[in-house]
Amino acid sequence: MNEHDSERMKGMLESLGYTETAEQQDAGLILFNTCSIREKADSRFISYLQLAASYKRRDPEIVIGVGGCWAQSVKEDVFRRFPFVDVAFGPGQVHKLAEFLTSESLTAQGFFEFEGFTGHLPEKRARSFQSWVQISVGCNMKCSYCIVPSTRGRQVDRPLDELVAEVRAQVAEGVREVTLLGQNVNAYGREMRAGAGRGSFAQLLHELDAIDGLDRIRYTSPHPQDMKEDVVLAHAELDSVCPHMHLPLQSGSSRILKAMRRTYNRERFLDRVALIREHNPDIALTTDVIVGFPGETEEDFAETLEVCEAVGFDGAFTFIYSPRRETEAAELVADFVGHEVSVERMDRLVEVIQRRAGEQARRFVGRTLDVLVEGSSRTDAARLRGRIGHGKVVNFSGLAEPGEIVPVAITSATSQTLAGEMSLLARALT
Ligand code: SAH
Ligand code: SF4
Repeated sequence: MNEHDSERMKGMLESLGYTETAEQQDAGLILFNTCSIREKADSRFISYLQLAASYKRRDPEIVIGVGGCWAQSVKEDVFRRFPFVDVAFGPGQVHKLAEFLTSESLTAQGFFEFEGFTGHLPEKRARSFQSWVQISVGCNMKCSYCIVPSTRGRQVDRPLDELVAEVRAQVAEGVREVTLLGQNVNAYGREMRAGAGRGSFAQLLHELDAIDGLDRIRYTSPHPQDMKEDVVLAHAELDSVCPHMHLPLQSGSSRILKAMRRTYNRERFLDRVALIREHNPDIALTTDVIVGFPGETEEDFAETLEVCEAVGFDGAFTFIYSPRRETEAAELVADFVGHEVSVERMDRLVEVIQRRAGEQARRFVGRTLDVLVEGSSRTDAARLRGRIGHGKVVNFSGLAEPGEIVPVAITSATSQTLAGEMSLLARALT
């Protein structure tokens, strides 16, 4: 979501005539898009901000802007703590940046209202054949560890017909793969008023699948509470919906899930996995897990390990709990888990995740799978890099351009990546 916000900031700046400088010091405008999901993101950002301040001491004409969730969470305080900042805005106020930059007087200003979706900004896509589409902003859940509801506001969904028209236009420009973005994508449509433009998430998948020339549909993230048969079946029935689902677990302990206010328990999560796999036996499942949530005991953590063993995820993002401003869990100071204990649990979790992901990845070896080429391999420029529908990265030998979808025979697998060779015979037949 944050990266997509950056694309929209870049697109908007380009439309105002700005271009990127090769060297930071040469910039007339230094703009930060910030994340606040965990403390580490905050502290790293502050050190970059100090660097920008040092450039500005040399050249006071430099404009410094701070957008995104960190800005939203401190609001006007940013100007008190960092007086050299000229403009600050929350994730819902990206469009106000243009207003500020084109105004006559550049006196420091902050924009922190929640206005619902303020999209329709030009975006500068990193790759011309892949796009992100924000289907909703905000989140109505109240996960006790999470800062997002306070930085992005209540959930507001964009009308279905508008989304379909946007994706159709992108496909006409050459987009082959779209990733639908929202904090809780499968709650899409639930709170929309009846009338034109209303629809469920499954309906949205159906309508997008019908667009000619769109090869791949991805989305992130769905919530286990809202994972129903209609979306599960969409994976089985619709060709362009990728065989990959990122379904955040957070914890395998029902007691901790309750304290997290995740609104499902361990059994319900496992039951969702069973339903998904019943209809999509080959689907890749990835997840998010938090270790060291306040009050997490060794027994709770053992349950998380058990669920990860049992499911056998194809990959996971793993996080040590980080107390966030004004969240319910941050108040539970007496129950905080020590850093050393969290780090030790993280090591054990990563071992299970990687081992199971490695085992799962072996199912791809020997198969020939379609790969959307993204560019050259990061470790060997003579090879290519792309992704299979399951979301796994493949490094392979062959000749193809970024944006092409080519058949690749998978020859080996690790927990993270696959390796293969482009199948010229299969290509000749397609
Ligand atoms: N809306 C998405 C997640 C957005 S945040 C969802 O509910 O799935 C991405 C991930 O960051 C979360 O899934 C969670 O695992 C992690 N996260 C969020 N807040 C955190 C915190 N305070 N400490 C550690 N991890 C956190
Ligand atoms: Fe945060 Fe929970 Fe909303 Fe995800 S669903 S953004 S974790 S409050």
